[in-house]
Amino acid sequence: MKKTLYLKFILAYFIFGVFGFIIVATLIPGMTKDHLVREKAESLYAEASAIANTYASGLYTSETSLETVKAQMDTLAIYQDSVIRVINPSGLVVLDTSTELNVEESVIIEGFDPTSTGGAYYTVGDFFGTFDTAVLTTFAPITSNYMVKGYVVIHCPMTSIQESCDSLQRISYITLIVLLMLSLIILIFFTDMVYVPLKKITYATEQYASGNMHYEFQVDSDDEIGYLAACLNYMASEIAGAEDNQKKFVANVSHDFRSPLTSIRGYLEAMLDGTIPPEMYEKYLNIVLNETDRLKKLTDSLLMLNNLNTKGIFLDRAEFDINQVIRNTAASFEGTCRAKNISIELVLTGDVMYVDADMGKIQQVLYNLTDNAIKFSHHNSVIRLETAEKKNKLFVSVKDTGIGIPKEDLKLIWDRFYKSDSSRGKDKKGTGLGLSIVKEIINAHGEHINVISTQDEGSEFIFSLALSKKNDEEE
Ligand code: ADP
Repeated sequence: MKKTLYLKFILAYFIFGVFGFIIVATLIPGMTKDHLVREKAESLYAEASAIANTYASGLYTSETSLETVKAQMDTLAIYQDSVIRVINPSGLVVLDTSTELNVEESVIIEGFDPTSTGGAYYTVGDFFGTFDTAVLTTFAPITSNYMVKGYVVIHCPMTSIQESCDSLQRISYITLIVLLMLSLIILIFFTDMVYVPLKKITYATEQYASGNMHYEFQVDSDDEIGYLAACLNYMASEIAGAEDNQKKFVANVSHDFRSPLTSIRGYLEAMLDGTIPPEMYEKYLNIVLNETDRLKKLTDSLLMLNNLNTKGIFLDRAEFDINQVIRNTAASFEGTCRAKNISIELVLTGDVMYVDADMGKIQQVLYNLTDNAIKFSHHNSVIRLETAEKKNKLFVSVKDTGIGIPKEDLKLIWDRFYKSDSSRGKDKKGTGLGLSIVKEIINAHGEHINVISTQDEGSEFIFSLALSKKNDEEE
């Protein structure tokens, strides 16, 4: 059988209960009896000493009559529920509160030896065979002129001590039962607060281990177990999300690779079977070339994203003039701009502006943003590349007056392979990876990128960069 935590806890509870009963049944009676006997003996001894020093000594000095002493001791004996005797060292009973005075018939205790207790002031037993049941006996010597004349002996029946013992034992049992009931509350709490949530968590981990990452469970407690459950739920949802993303990613990659490959294959087959005559080859080979360009761009982008995605990507940080990089980027688009009659306006702060970043990667960001701005701009429009300095940061903006992005798409444009429906028709070459790359690069720098866009009016992408200290030195 599987040993569950619950079973172990119940077993521990039973062991606790059984040991509790064993202790109460064995140790407690012995301990309480010893204690009660000692306490009773002490009080009886004090009483015997007092009697020995007062009434009893009067007996031997003949100051008090035997009858008077007997009457006083009878009262004391009744009050104490005991038997008081005065015994001579020879064993002759001078006085006994349990019998009437009889001077003619003297009673002698055979073998009476006050030293037989080994120095203790009390003993438990039948007192030299003079009692049928066990009694607690204490001695106090009666001395006169430094001589022991006799002994005051008090006997107390053990039954009364045993009764006290029994009632104490009953109290111990009741206490133990109450304790066991109280610890049952702990067991109930344990079940509710630890065992049930743990069972849910274990079941959930089994589900996750078998691949069911969408399994959801609820643990309503705000302690460590609740936190563990929440973390586990979160972990599973993240893994499920990552799995879904991976599937989507593979589907997108396959789709984006398949369409250029299909068109390349189509044109090449048409050339081979003669559907395309040789004089038309140049035109179609150029289309094939374009398609291979697209495939190369896609592969490059995927590789780049893959590298950027690795945690803690290596940034080749350096201090460089961002103005120069912006100018170079604008210049590289001269041809494309001319084709659409688009002009690029540069509004740059300072002649030179040093930033601390990975130049190659920031160049890529500017390239992707400007490329998009041109792609999604109308003919005869202006694109503005602008920089602004604020709170030790440099903000770079790429603004166009093109088609803009619908409000509902604004959040999605950063996703891999995302292309808005409106742009799909216009931009067949787009991969939907450009902005993902941009975002990864800016995030890797610990900076931010934002977009402000209105459909049919245009878009502005703004990202921040860390300014270099070199700017202050140059001033
Ligand atoms: P690609 O440009 O290769 O399609 P991107 O990731 O760069 O991929 O862009 C994703 C989508 O965001 C584009 O398809 C387009 O719909 C939208 N987009 C990006 N930049 C602009 C812009 N300047 N103006 C309008 N839409 C844009």
